[in-house]
Amino acid sequence: MILIATDLDGTFLAGSNSDRLRLYQTISAHPDITLAYVTGRSLEAVLPLLSDPTLPSPDYIISDVGATIYDGDTLQPIAELQADIDQRWPGAQVVADALAPFTGLERQNVPQSRRCSYYCTPEQAGSKAIAEAVAELGCDLLYSADRYLDVLPSDVSKGTTLTALVEWLDLDGEQVLVAGDTLNDLSLFDAGYKGVCVGESEPGLLEATSQNTRVLQASEPGCGGIIEALAWFGFLGAHGMTAEVRPPATPGGAELVIVYHRLPYEEYREDGRVKRRRPKSPNGIIPTLLSFFADGREGAWIAWSEHREDDSPFQHHTAVDPDRYPRLTAARIPLDKDQIDIFYKRFSKEAFWPTLHTFWERASFREDHWEVFLEVNRAFAERAASEAAENALVWIHDYNLWMVPAYLRELRPDLRIAFFHHTYFPSADVFNVVPWRREIVGSLMQCDYVGFHIPRQVENFVDVARGVTPVQLLEREDCAPRFVTYGCAVGLERYTRAIGVNDRKVGLGAHPVGLDINRVKACLEDDMVQIRMSELRAELTGVRLILSVERLDFTKGTLEKLVAYERMLEENPELLGKVTLFTVCVPAAGEMKVYQELQVQIEQAVGRINGRFAQVGWTPVQFFFRSLPFEEVVGWYAMADVMWVTPLRDGLNLVAKEFVATQGLTGGTGVLVLSEFAGAAAELKGALLTNPHDVADLAHTCYLGLNLPSSEAQARMRQMFEIVEHHDIRRWSDEFINAATQAALANGSGTEGQAVAS
Ligand code: UDP
Repeated sequence: MILIATDLDGTFLAGSNSDRLRLYQTISAHPDITLAYVTGRSLEAVLPLLSDPTLPSPDYIISDVGATIYDGDTLQPIAELQADIDQRWPGAQVVADALAPFTGLERQNVPQSRRCSYYCTPEQAGSKAIAEAVAELGCDLLYSADRYLDVLPSDVSKGTTLTALVEWLDLDGEQVLVAGDTLNDLSLFDAGYKGVCVGESEPGLLEATSQNTRVLQASEPGCGGIIEALAWFGFLGAHGMTAEVRPPATPGGAELVIVYHRLPYEEYREDGRVKRRRPKSPNGIIPTLLSFFADGREGAWIAWSEHREDDSPFQHHTAVDPDRYPRLTAARIPLDKDQIDIFYKRFSKEAFWPTLHTFWERASFREDHWEVFLEVNRAFAERAASEAAENALVWIHDYNLWMVPAYLRELRPDLRIAFFHHTYFPSADVFNVVPWRREIVGSLMQCDYVGFHIPRQVENFVDVARGVTPVQLLEREDCAPRFVTYGCAVGLERYTRAIGVNDRKVGLGAHPVGLDINRVKACLEDDMVQIRMSELRAELTGVRLILSVERLDFTKGTLEKLVAYERMLEENPELLGKVTLFTVCVPAAGEMKVYQELQVQIEQAVGRINGRFAQVGWTPVQFFFRSLPFEEVVGWYAMADVMWVTPLRDGLNLVAKEFVATQGLTGGTGVLVLSEFAGAAAELKGALLTNPHDVADLAHTCYLGLNLPSSEAQARMRQMFEIVEHHDIRRWSDEFINAATQAALANGSGTEGQAVAS
């Protein structure tokens, strides 16, 4: 067993990227290496490093310049050793009180424990009065860098605590290597172990250790110096550590890699055989992403595919569409039924979906499910690593794949990694409930660029990150004129465009997904849709149509909408017989109890309203618990007087945009009544915003929508259509790819210089 006891800043956290990765990977992979961080930081300030997936986890943490010692796994103090130190510590308040009279001493406002740190001039540091006051407390003084004065328990230093640890572990002192770079680390070298002053060490330390024959003064800085020392002292055999390093993944040929949990075509089973068809999903994201490969560029689309034991051998690569995308391959990841069930259907839906939409009390978090989530994410990352060409852009989609960047960055440091978050991202108060938030943030910090729909979600993410690790706000931008600022639940004035974390720069951006307007146009030109529209027009004569289209989900506010509709009818009897609420609610796949319960509640509410208000020839609510083909939905959009979109939370809401596109293309005067909690509310200026948590406001705003003068309705629709038409899906994907590429270039991904410029 070898113990590497290393200082952090300037030592273990320094050096070239390749040396750092080499050392980190060796330590992680080597079962005989025990790692101890020995640092002037306190535990709180070490925690962010534990979220960085590229760093090996320490077995022990000696912090506060030796005044505290923790087990790296449990993060609990090592009781016996800590108790010994604690006996010599009078308590922070006692020390602070004793030093309060010395007005020139300024207490450092950094996290600390079992010590008190001050800023202090060299003159004051030499003050006899201070020395006496500290001696009276039974404490020691440590002065460093002509600036920092530490009051510590007596006879405590990095070196004494390390010695105590080595004895407690009953280790052979010859198998210990200490590493440092400043005078603060001198006690480590004085403890008698083999040691290395890494390249670019403080001159005072070099001088103080120059006669110590057990200390190597290395030429390479940081991790490079530690690597030199491992070879010099013959640790890890004659070849030093090179044999231990995992070879980086061999690059593939794909210049653009899409990592999406779904394949770009739909697979289904018929007579026991897997067949394929075009995806049913109406949103234009998949075809738009595919269109990047229409120019013949080489690409890979990574997605899972079910593999059953009795299936014929699994095909890892399949062509997507050789005529249209000649050099695009689908790289399929075989998952068995259990993995799919846990990773995709249960864990993502039961743990993350509710939390992301702020319904955290509905979430259930299971460690064994998280393990499956990690396993699947690792498989995605390994696949991306072997498909991507050198310096390729890898575009990862959505929260199902949160942990892919962590694994991928380690396998392929050269890649440009971008991530787009398709759902809502909640505030820190909510997100911090997730037991694995540190790992998730640590993983996303490995990206060059992370995109969300709207600024509010970006800012929420930044806030979560700030609770995990020190974050520098490098670039900020006004939200206007693109986004709504005030007066909307998801509005915001300014947002962050780039952050710096552990000397990496991560670009951030708001990119609300756009629509494929031509698809809506094609539907409207379809003969069948035209016929259906004229049938509807006839059916709806004399009745105003309020339309609602959504998936069955507790986030969509369907029940709240029904209650508000009931209230509107109650308060405005002139509407009886004159309006109809037509609701399409697409049942959720699978057997989840929450959805079954919700469906029963909705059915009861519909029954109640119809029972209460129906008249011969008039049904107040028409409810459809099934999915309609997109063409038919477009027909309904064209006919609606009010589109009532009421999610309690929503990443964006495409239905709202589809309604606008349809009405805009047909010159309609329909009114969009939109929840101010949908992402689209921050983008669609011209919608009537409503608060779905307030029944009175829901009812009132819907009524307002029904009675809006047509000139105003027309003006609002024109304003919204302009936005939807301009920011279409093509622009969305182009803008995202450009922003991600710029961020990666600025970050120097693919080169040595990955550090934040500032
Ligand atoms: N949709 C559909 N048929 C239906 C109901 C909905 O094709 O019967 C489509 C709708 O046109 C929209 C999508 O389902 O494109 C729902 O997307 P949205 O962003 O509004 O909600 P999400 O389900 O993603 O939360």
